[in-house]
Amino acid sequence: MKNIRNFSIIAHIDHGKSTLSDRLIQICGGLSEREMSNQVLDSMDLERERGITIKAQSVMINYKNKKNDIFNLNFIDTPGHVDFSYEVSRSLSACEGALLVVDSTQGVEAQTLANCYTALEMNLEIIPVLNKIDLPNANPEKVSKEIEDIIGISSYNAIKCSSKTGTGIQNLIESIIMYIPSPKGKIDAPLQALIIDSWFDNYLGVVSLIRIKNGILFEKDKIQVMSTGKNYFVDQIGIFTPKKLNKKKLQCGEVGWVICGIKSITAAPVGDTLTTAQNPAKKRLSGFKKIKPQIYAGLFPVTSDQYETFKDALGKLSLNDSSLFYEPENSNALGFGFRCGFLGLLHMEIIQARLEREYSIDLISTAPTVIYEIELNNGKIIYLDSPSNFPDANQIKTIREPIVECNILVPPQFLGPVIKLCVEKRGFQTNMIYHAHQVSLKYNIPMNEVVLNFFDELKSVSSGYASLEYDFKHFQSVKIAKIDILINSEKVDALTILAYYKNASYRAREIVNKMKELIPRHQFDIAIQATINNSIVARSTIKQLRKNVLSKCYGGDISRKKKLLQKQKDGKKRMKKIGNVNIPKTAFISILNIS
Ligand code: GDP
Ligand code: MG
Repeated sequence: MKNIRNFSIIAHIDHGKSTLSDRLIQICGGLSEREMSNQVLDSMDLERERGITIKAQSVMINYKNKKNDIFNLNFIDTPGHVDFSYEVSRSLSACEGALLVVDSTQGVEAQTLANCYTALEMNLEIIPVLNKIDLPNANPEKVSKEIEDIIGISSYNAIKCSSKTGTGIQNLIESIIMYIPSPKGKIDAPLQALIIDSWFDNYLGVVSLIRIKNGILFEKDKIQVMSTGKNYFVDQIGIFTPKKLNKKKLQCGEVGWVICGIKSITAAPVGDTLTTAQNPAKKRLSGFKKIKPQIYAGLFPVTSDQYETFKDALGKLSLNDSSLFYEPENSNALGFGFRCGFLGLLHMEIIQARLEREYSIDLISTAPTVIYEIELNNGKIIYLDSPSNFPDANQIKTIREPIVECNILVPPQFLGPVIKLCVEKRGFQTNMIYHAHQVSLKYNIPMNEVVLNFFDELKSVSSGYASLEYDFKHFQSVKIAKIDILINSEKVDALTILAYYKNASYRAREIVNKMKELIPRHQFDIAIQATINNSIVARSTIKQLRKNVLSKCYGGDISRKKKLLQKQKDGKKRMKKIGNVNIPKTAFISILNIS
């Protein structure tokens, strides 16, 4: 055990995490660049052919130091979407140390901070890695000071390196061995293995990535999932090198994978503890904070014949993504679909793109909404995830909205516009600290304002320099108005949104204008109205179309006529018929961009 080192690599996006991983594999695998690409790719092709998902979040490599001692270096990549900090914290829980990679041409950014604090909370040893020193504008000294100044950790053991050229990587490995502690735990104690991640493989069933905290796990053991008490026989165990390699046992301190005939990832939940059925451990390991979806939106197939395909696809996607929530939803405008819960807008975009690309489902999404905590006059508290279920105003005692704490890092010359933006978003400043080259700002801002286009606006007012990281803080009371949209007097429930009361009439007008712009002319007039608490606050009319498109095709130009008709038909496919009005897909999501 004393020759094992378990560590994660954490960084702000694009600072070089993946490149560093590749370089470590290359150096320790003792493979040449060509062999490495051949070998790694070969095994991937094979796995791809057999349809096996590759999710090598953990890689074990061997390193021989100058004294010929062999070390097992285990690095655990951030599983899944890199942007989700809870995923980072899962990886970290399997480690004793973390490499904090900072791009020395960029410096510390918001995600660097957030990930580093997560590692510090878990008492991990941190080695700052000043990456990209091969670039002419690299300034590792400045970045090293920033680490001390902004993050507040010592950078005495920082390593300067280039993951691209390999400079300094040898030093880095020596530092990993020197500074990161070897794992603790008792090899003769009952087995306790923490499930770091589980995913579904079409051929193998559920594969779980585990860290053995105590004891030994043998192939063919009978194991127990501690939260459910259910027993399973172990089919296979092993490690990733990054190829999937079978082993006879995994022992205290090691990280590896296990397959034991579990059919659903919900039966091997992330954060759970595995033990042996023969000699079970007394206690579960402390798991992870349960994550809940932060935003909700309705997803509806454009044509109703895709409903079953859609339902199956959601089922399949959720097999590998326990944070994806869905339940059936029925809309008078859009028909049958699902209300889905996501961790954030990026998560929503990824899921929607996968549904459309991998399953060829044409989808309409309604505007995403946060969860409101509503206290009714009868004392009941409800958590509202769909604007169309908003209770009658006279039933409501208080509405509370989710507030997030935003940590923003920005160079001082952009401070003014960033503060102005935060104020516009109803932000409340809780802290501001000046560092040498950056200012760190803390704001409490309603989540509703942050999930819309705050990030893009922040980037735009700071010429791309500000970085943002945020976390749910608490619910806080707020005045909210419900805006309904009526098209030819018919309420379109999928266009209903909730807005801060002061912005409500402005937003209602903007939505009406947007609809006028997006809905094409028809053979009849179309009236668009917006109401707040059932009184009309905005209206507009789309005048009827006079010209017949076919009138231009005089004579017998059949093929041209056909083409035009086909074009119209294709156009209609991207529309949703509501009453007798065709509304384009884009209209439903467009209300997102009105702020
Ligand atoms: P990640 O998002 O943290 O995984 O970052 P990547 O490893 O994907 O790197 C982002 C970009 O930086 C890629 O274009 C890399 O080629 C580049 N990069 C990473 N490390 C270095 C380095 O040491 N030197 C230079 N010049 N480029 C690097
Ligand atoms: Mg990467």
